[in-house]
Amino acid sequence: MANESTTSNRLGQIDSDYQLVIIGGGIYGATLCWEAAHRGIKTLLVEQEDYACGASSNSLKTIHGGLRSLQSLNLKAVLKGIRERSIFLRIAPNYVKPLPCILPTSTSLMKSKPVVGMGLLLYNILNQLYIFASNDDNKIPRSRLLSRSKFFSRAANINPEGITGGALWHDAQVINTERMVWQFIRSAITRGATAINHASAIKHEHDGTKDRHKVLIRDQISGDEKTITTAAVVDASAAWNFIKHCLPESQHDKNLTFVKSVNIIVKKNIFDTAVGANIKAKDNSSRLYFFSPWRDCTIIGTWYLSENPYPEKSFSRDEASACINEINAAFSQPLLNIDDICNVHIGFLPAIKNQHGNTLTLDKNLISSYQLKDWSQQPGMQNMYSLRGTKYTLARHDAQQVIDQLAKTMQWKVTASRSDQLPIYQAMSATEKKHSLSADIINQLLTNYGLETEGLLEHIRNNPQSAELIPGTQHHIAAEIHHAVTNEQALTLSDLLKRRLAIGDRAPPDLMTAQYCAKVMQQLFSWSDDTVRKQISELYASYPECLLQRNNVTANTDPFALQPDNIKSA
Ligand SMILES: Cc1cc2nc3c(=O)[nH]c(=O)nc-3n(C[C@H](O)[C@H](O)[C@H](O)COP(=O)(O)OP(=O)(O)OC[C@H]3O[C@@H](n4cnc5c(N)ncnc54)[C@H](O)[C@@H]3O)c2cc1C
Repeated sequence: MANESTTSNRLGQIDSDYQLVIIGGGIYGATLCWEAAHRGIKTLLVEQEDYACGASSNSLKTIHGGLRSLQSLNLKAVLKGIRERSIFLRIAPNYVKPLPCILPTSTSLMKSKPVVGMGLLLYNILNQLYIFASNDDNKIPRSRLLSRSKFFSRAANINPEGITGGALWHDAQVINTERMVWQFIRSAITRGATAINHASAIKHEHDGTKDRHKVLIRDQISGDEKTITTAAVVDASAAWNFIKHCLPESQHDKNLTFVKSVNIIVKKNIFDTAVGANIKAKDNSSRLYFFSPWRDCTIIGTWYLSENPYPEKSFSRDEASACINEINAAFSQPLLNIDDICNVHIGFLPAIKNQHGNTLTLDKNLISSYQLKDWSQQPGMQNMYSLRGTKYTLARHDAQQVIDQLAKTMQWKVTASRSDQLPIYQAMSATEKKHSLSADIINQLLTNYGLETEGLLEHIRNNPQSAELIPGTQHHIAAEIHHAVTNEQALTLSDLLKRRLAIGDRAPPDLMTAQYCAKVMQQLFSWSDDTVRKQISELYASYPECLLQRNNVTANTDPFALQPDNIKSA
């Protein structure tokens, strides 16, 4: 059982000296931590808020199989995609599933059936070559062309103008991107790494004489601080750009900026397959958007909206209605209205400005390859690196390369990488175990907890009341709250509902769900009633205001003043 000690003296429990400190617990920090730890490097990861609270929880959840790199004839990137898709399916079979995708073909030459058909043929050959060379049968079905009628049987109501048929291929989907980040970190912890959430790196100094860095860490919950020494630092803080605070202003990268990137989630399965559709923007330019089925919802995106100097996650009703209008224009009759939106995923991606400095595009250099910048030339920055990548898909691969490079530079003796083979913590296929609880609950547990489900079931056997359903949810039980708090570093209600339990990632949870979970956490952490109120307010404050009005709740509402019966689900 967790108690006050779970949140007190956390910094006192970690060592003072490491070989490697990683700043940032998104997918890049997490895979790097796993890669370093399983190869024998003494590693500390610090995350200022909760693991996967940044771009890593806000993706379209697609593990790209590389097909789209064929457009630029980048065969190396195609093979990398094929390989990473197979690896994710193997190392995390409970989280990652094959995702059938279709795109329309048209009369324009590059999108015509003969040209697209040749591309698919080449893609099938490359996939077969990968299977042959790696002896890894990824069981991905063959890609193929679709007739016009077959295309529309999968993508009904898409505006038919100019469409001659379609192309079908398979990417993969991460069903729970947040938990997968945590499971990489968990795997690293089992191999000796230390990871601490709600703790920021706030200052860096280099101790020239001893060739060590000093990184000042602040526990955001207790306010405690501790200086850690380390041989090397990797800044994986993405849009927060920690490195900037370590450099003189003259060295800041003036061209680097971040674009607010948005997916909207609607509470209906529009298609069974992920469908790409060209959507016209207000300025008449046309861009490809994907409609990706995810649980009982559809994720639609990605919009690249505006530059934000700081990771500020606002999303207005006007922005929402502009997205809905653009989507509806791609269909022969309006498909969605603004109230269909149940959540908005907002993240920040590295972007570059055009010559006039007014429009932003994704930094293309980063799309197929990460950037590891070595700051050793700067005074006091020896063995300080910043890592930037733009694909969840490539994070494991990139982490492997970064640790190879670091081990060489630092002359660390490391074992060979096995991150392409080792299943991540307790991962297993959801079909491997059965139990007498309801099949839907067991499936949910197996998908989200893999082999750890056994531990949850053991807890339920000893505490039968913890099999109680969490109010306002269909398949989540009280035992999961206990598990997240005692085993998974869930310290706040937002950690619990948005990134440990697959509830608040889809839509703002019902108030009765938030109240119930906060009450259970209150017992585990001995929170006061005021803390419970604050936790509930902070949870709702983390969603765009326009989504909350429907729940009769805003970030400033006193949650105890509302009766759960009055609350409609989002
Ligand atoms: C809308 C959208 C859709 C996308 N779709 C896809 C997709 O379908 N497939 C795909 O492969 N990729 C996709 N991506 C890209 C992918 O999500 C990102 O490339 C990836 O998540 C970046 O991970 P990261 O670890 O670099 O950054 P982040 O996840 O942002 O992590 C950075 C972390 O650093 C922490 N931090 C910052 N400062 C400090 C500090 N001082 N101390 C401690 N911690 C700190 C932050 O709190 C944050 O958690 C998408 C991205 C977006 C935004």
